Amino acid sequence: MVSPNLVKSLQAIIGEENVFTSEADRQCYSYDSAVLKATVPALVLRPTTTEQIGPIVKLCYDAGLAITVRGAGSNLSGGTVPDTTDSVVIATNGLQKIIEINEEDLYAVVEPGVVTAQFAKAVEAKGLFYPPDPGSMSVSTLAGNICENAGGLRGLKYGVTKDYVMGLEFYDYEGNLIKTGSRTVKCVTGFNLAGLMVASEGTMGVISKAILKLVPPPRASKALMAEFSDIADASEAVAKMIAAHVVPCTLELLDQNSLKYVEADQHIGLPVDAAAMLLIEVDGHPGQVADDAAIVEDVLKKCRARAVHVARDAAEKNKIWAARRNALPALARARPTCVLEDATVPRSQIPAMIRSLNEIAAKYKVEMGTFGHAGDGNLHPTILCDRRDAEEFARVEAAVDEIFDVALSLGGTLSGEHGIGTAKSKWVEKETTPGTILFSERMRRAVDPKGLFNARKITGYSHE
Ligand SMILES: Cc1cc2nc3c(=O)[nH]c(=O)nc-3n(C[C@H](O)[C@H](O)[C@H](O)COP(=O)(O)OP(=O)(O)OC[C@H]3O[C@@H](n4cnc5c(N)ncnc54)[C@H](O)[C@@H]3O)c2cc1C
Repeated sequence: MVSPNLVKSLQAIIGEENVFTSEADRQCYSYDSAVLKATVPALVLRPTTTEQIGPIVKLCYDAGLAITVRGAGSNLSGGTVPDTTDSVVIATNGLQKIIEINEEDLYAVVEPGVVTAQFAKAVEAKGLFYPPDPGSMSVSTLAGNICENAGGLRGLKYGVTKDYVMGLEFYDYEGNLIKTGSRTVKCVTGFNLAGLMVASEGTMGVISKAILKLVPPPRASKALMAEFSDIADASEAVAKMIAAHVVPCTLELLDQNSLKYVEADQHIGLPVDAAAMLLIEVDGHPGQVADDAAIVEDVLKKCRARAVHVARDAAEKNKIWAARRNALPALARARPTCVLEDATVPRSQIPAMIRSLNEIAAKYKVEMGTFGHAGDGNLHPTILCDRRDAEEFARVEAAVDEIFDVALSLGGTLSGEHGIGTAKSKWVEKETTPGTILFSERMRRAVDPKGLFNARKITGYSHE
């Protein structure tokens, strides 16, 4: 229960217009992109300066309110669904300043709510490159990316968000400002608290600023597309490319079901009779790109690709990538509900994982298409269903349970990039150990003694 006095104090700090109390406003902060039950919070706060964050967090914490921090709410694991109806949501998506882009020292300083794609564009305008490219980048915020350790198509060669976080500022539960890392390439002053904040899913504090690494952009790139009659051959090609010392910047796979859904939706001439398709892009110095593309083409042919297309120009390259870009939208349009998972396995286990996914789909009679980042084993089995049909959704949930069991049995992980939230917290112990949960909970209690920061997320399942 939020007291009227507390509301007044919060209004005095961030302005009446940034404290949302109406049912209609609060509804908008009750859900995220995961298919989970919504919880309408009691209050929503939208600070307009980073300095306002400390005092509002302290007031809410002292009042014993559960706190859920929110960027764009695009996460796929329930990370921004409030824990209780007494919760307060702190939305940092209004804090959108790019404070500095430093072209000499190759870093940028940003506020938490900067939209990823807008940041990438601003960096590009200065002749530099920020590689992390989650599929949601047109809406996701940089703090949301940090707190989920978001990855993207370029993860194989360029890494994921954690590889670009040089430093952070955040506020703790008492409203203290914490600074960690620096604008320098090297910095070992104190604990790596920025590392702790990465993938912390709003459980440790509220990020107010980030120092992010930038790199020079590649000078050239080339895209290729290969069709396979057997998905095991596609997988072998992935392993052989890396063994030939070519690390493509993107290396994506679409299975036959995904090809069928994309083609039915887009009519772009995809080979729907192929078992799988690989989409590959190599980038770097023009000479190296030519060499790498030739090696990739050779590997694809040796691995029995039934057709290989090499893009001759930007238009052809765009055509190649249209298939991958449209995979999720095409699948999502097929049925009212789309359950998008990100079970990840070692590269060599992709054929075994795809085989199991097909068996699971048949066993539970669910519609499924699988696409994803073949280069890093990060697959997106996507189940198409209707949440309103309880019987069908129970089968979907049973199928998802089995998908994670299989991924773990193949030496994989619950989440390559979407995080744990509440959606996957019940499986964390299966992947780790009871001691891991205990250690994580002890660490959490040290920085959140009342258990108010997104308490049900990540390890929160053990409380239930
Ligand atoms: C269509 C679609 C495609 C996607 N593709 C990808 C993909 O390719 N790769 C990928 O990794 N993810 C992907 N995602 C998932 C999602 O977009 C990412 O997890 C993204 O990083 C979330 O950013 P956000 O701003 O929406 O954060 P939110 O969803 O708002 O929050 C995410 C987490 O961060 C915490 N948080 C947010 N801001 C702060 C802050 N200032 N301080 C402390 N904690 C904070 C929240 O509490 C929450 O736990 C996709 C999602 C969709 C819907």
